[in-house]
Amino acid sequence: MALQFRNSLTKKLEEFKPIESGKAKIYTCGPTVYNYLHIGNFKTFMWGDLLKRYLKYQNYEVTHVMNLTDIDDKIIRDSQKTGKSLSEFTRVYIDSFFEDYDTLGLERADFYPKATEHIDGMVQMVQKLVENGLAYEVDGSYYYKIEAFKDYGQLANIDRDNLKPGERVSSDEYEKESISDFALWKAWEETDGDIFWETEIGKGRPGWHLECSVMSMKYLGETFDIHTGGIDLLFPHHENEIAQSEGATGKKFVNCWMHGEHLIVEGKKMSKSLGNYYTVKDILDKGYSGVVIRYLLISSHYRHQFNFTFKGLDAARESLSRYTDFFSNLESYKGGNNSGGKVADAMATAKMKFEDSLDDDLNISGALAAIFDFIKTINRLKDEDNFDFAEKIDILELMNSFDTVLNFRFSSEGIDEEIEKLIAQRTEAKANKDFTVSDKIRDDLLAQGIILEDTRDGVKWKRKI
Ligand SMILES: [Zn+2]
Repeated sequence: MALQFRNSLTKKLEEFKPIESGKAKIYTCGPTVYNYLHIGNFKTFMWGDLLKRYLKYQNYEVTHVMNLTDIDDKIIRDSQKTGKSLSEFTRVYIDSFFEDYDTLGLERADFYPKATEHIDGMVQMVQKLVENGLAYEVDGSYYYKIEAFKDYGQLANIDRDNLKPGERVSSDEYEKESISDFALWKAWEETDGDIFWETEIGKGRPGWHLECSVMSMKYLGETFDIHTGGIDLLFPHHENEIAQSEGATGKKFVNCWMHGEHLIVEGKKMSKSLGNYYTVKDILDKGYSGVVIRYLLISSHYRHQFNFTFKGLDAARESLSRYTDFFSNLESYKGGNNSGGKVADAMATAKMKFEDSLDDDLNISGALAAIFDFIKTINRLKDEDNFDFAEKIDILELMNSFDTVLNFRFSSEGIDEEIEKLIAQRTEAKANKDFTVSDKIRDDLLAQGIILEDTRDGVKWKRKI
């Protein structure tokens, strides 16, 4: 099966055809750093992580950009209340975001551009849009003239008859009902305090939508492969990104738009007033580890509404221990008779089902089912000592390759230290010329997918891909 994703732009499943062969360029709308992120935000980043890791598994060279919105209406409002400078205020939330990101085993993006560091590019885009007849100025603010962009509404399926020419909306977030000209650049107002930039288009600050258009194209080019985000960003944010980027360049902005559904908690919309609003740290405090949260968040299809429950977390913990036990039991298995092709058959089936499922718009349930069926088959054979050592190594290799996509064997606590400890023991054994021990440690680590490299700066290790 060919790799295919559901494109929100065409509302169809489409084969993934990268612009440059073998490369995938992805942009994800990152956090607005005025608050600690909740698990719903991380659900979106989690399926983005699955997408990225699976593309890498399929040998794509991935470039991933995620912006940090460190200037918008909400940030100004809340930073003013604290009396801190903008960067002092956002720093806390940026640090917390990265901490949670690592706790959940998410692979870092290649670039995390900050809006406040790309003001020049935003000013240039406003100027370009004015030049192209798509933007106009009112009292020092600049607005996008949506009636002048004929494709406005293609993503959100907006009936152009509802456009309200000449009406303007200044807030960064607004409802679908107000399909009005939106602010690209906001002139300084007294309430903004000392938050402004002196630029060629005046004193002010960028609108939220403009930030993503400028930063995505700066790092990925005027047209790129995939743009991801939560469904709540589809309108107006992503619709406006298209209008800005295509209005400025005259080229198609993004080939494939992918949107994930909302997360609800115990069947209800997550909200602070209902007391069901959770950050990653809230859940860690309840005794669940990052990898358990990861398992739960990744295990439901990105386009299905996901019901986050504590029962679900307990079930995730159980599945995860079946998964990790399989590795550890296999690692200590000494090997028996050759299976006579049974292992090879089971491996081929597992690999095919795993890939077919993920090729099908990231069908994670199918991929997990393929793995757990495989685990069951191999456990049965193992109980009968029915495969040999070489087959065991093949099984581990396959499982390790699946794990490059799932990343269930990372642990925010412990594992890396354990590896370092073994490496130190091996170094000591080598110094004592005890090569039996040093070789054994190397082989044991290799069986766990850890490759050691002796370099001039000492021993380095990496996980096998
Ligand atoms: Zn965005």
